[in-house]
Amino acid sequence: MLNVPSQAFPAPGSQQRAASGGRNKVPLKQGRSLMDWIRLTKSGKDLTGLKGRLIEVTEEELKKHNKKDDCWVCIRGLVYNVSPYMEYHPGGEDELMRAAGSDGTDLFDQVHRWVNYESMLKECLVGRMAVKPVVVAKENHEKKLLNGILFKSQVPDLPAKEISPSYDWFQTESLVTIVIYTKQKDMDSESVIVDYQDGCFRAEIVIKDYSYLLHTELSHEIQEDITVRVAEKTGKVEIVLKKKDNVSWKYLGHPLENHNSFTTQRETGLYYRKCQLISKVDVTHDTKLYCLMLPPGTHLQVPIGQHVYLKQTITGTEIVKPYTPILETLHSNLKESHHPNNKYIYVMIKTYHTGLFTPHFDCLQIGDCVFLSNPEGTFKKSQLQELEELFLLAAGTGFTPMIKILNYALTNITNLRKVKLMFFNKTERDILWRNQLEQLADKERRFEVEFVLSEPTCEWTGKQGRISLPLLSEFVKRSLEDSRVLICICGPASFTEQGIRLLKDLNFSQEEVHSFTAE
Ligand code: FAD
Ligand code: NAD
Repeated sequence: MLNVPSQAFPAPGSQQRAASGGRNKVPLKQGRSLMDWIRLTKSGKDLTGLKGRLIEVTEEELKKHNKKDDCWVCIRGLVYNVSPYMEYHPGGEDELMRAAGSDGTDLFDQVHRWVNYESMLKECLVGRMAVKPVVVAKENHEKKLLNGILFKSQVPDLPAKEISPSYDWFQTESLVTIVIYTKQKDMDSESVIVDYQDGCFRAEIVIKDYSYLLHTELSHEIQEDITVRVAEKTGKVEIVLKKKDNVSWKYLGHPLENHNSFTTQRETGLYYRKCQLISKVDVTHDTKLYCLMLPPGTHLQVPIGQHVYLKQTITGTEIVKPYTPILETLHSNLKESHHPNNKYIYVMIKTYHTGLFTPHFDCLQIGDCVFLSNPEGTFKKSQLQELEELFLLAAGTGFTPMIKILNYALTNITNLRKVKLMFFNKTERDILWRNQLEQLADKERRFEVEFVLSEPTCEWTGKQGRISLPLLSEFVKRSLEDSRVLICICGPASFTEQGIRLLKDLNFSQEEVHSFTAE
């Protein structure tokens, strides 16, 4: 049964905890799983107490609804009656009550901005906040503030050095080139995400924690193959569009929401595009490698160490979970890819038969579609520069972020002397890409892999147990006293938390340890 309540839940290593960035979750009562919530929202029950009527809510009104059995919360200008949801909330009632009778947008964004609350809470929608004009002192003119949310393109708290990018465009008979002056050094094509669908053009340029957005309904049709060029030294980005008809364009297009805005990534929100499932191949008894094809008008590369969110509609509700794109194989730089051109995203996903998302995902047929978000994550390639030794501690599917890191480090970091992976699994049959890892270790003298099993059979002669001080102190030894090292750790939340504590005890600094979780 899905969500069988147990005192042990969230099991210290359960996905539920990791997926929430290591936040503790409360045990849910029987019949209060996410699936039970979805069922309740489909039952036709009046969950707002307003019989489907939507109202305009003033701040005074919102404040009055601040009790558990009468709790309204505003998220991005929309007000929800969350009382019926209290018992189903994985973070518990107390966490929801922190936003009772007020604007919970910031709290929500801090904890799980990727959760699709619009879909999850649609039956709890009470209405919109009443808009009230507010004078913003600094700007010297009046702007509308919607319950604390300043309309985009006006970001008051940008650090002075983050000067807003600008754009221009020009055309030839057959091409339209959009030029974005980011005024940033070290830009690369991973920082540019372009989508063209149904006449709408969207380009997001990621600059540290900010996004510059171009969003417009183009004045004319274009072909779907879009070229992106980035001049790393000047930060100039060129996006070349091929006209469908060789006519002169008088203007680029009609601006759409947030066009020409420069805001924090958090405010920009996650953008999804529809991808097609191209193949699925068994990796182990419960894990598969799935290949997703991006739409033809999309330019998107997932930086190493970052994850994306996949979204599917399950029983009428949009469900979102994070996954870490990987390479097609561990030796992909040596092997011709089946699917070249950056048009494909590979994800390795373990199916939990009692889980919410993965059983549905695994039922997708070749040709079916799933929505995929822009990448997110805190890992920076620069953490690998100048590195001499890299230690990777992975448990279960926590191996996924290690794949690109391992490959990148071995192919690009010239000073690197050693990469060691300690891979924790329950049993031998759970080890992901064991053959590939062993082959790589045979071929590449700088790479070593060690498998550790927590539930081995008596034939297993390798290391046993869970993450522990004796295991780590032997494994993560610097070969030279002043070696520049990085330790990456990923797995169930408890594994990661424990690992971080142990590494601290072993005197590794915070900068020397990178742990992977959802933000
Ligand atoms: P869930 O519904 O979350 O259930 C998982 C398990 O917990 C099931 O066994 C279920 O029975 C149990 N459970 C759920 N609720 C309860 C309850 N109330 N009481 C008791 N038991 C319960 N996974 C991958 O496979 N590959 C990746 O590349 C990957 N990348 C990730 C990247 C990030 C940044 C993060 C945070 C997670 C990543 N994950 C990855 C994990 C992934 O996001 C999902 O958590 C995972 O796929 C499980 O989702 P699910 O909805 O199928 O299962
Ligand atoms: P699993 O249950 O098969 O366990 C694998 C190993 O993890 C075990 O053999 C054990 O050594 C260790 N482990 C499990 N529970 C532990 C605990 N409570 N304390 C200490 N060690 C423990 O793992 P799985 O089902 O493959 O789950 C992988 C986890 O990794 C998921 O929680 C997933 O959300 C997380 N993950 C996170 C990211 C990320 O944050 N970027 C990426 C991928 C996977």
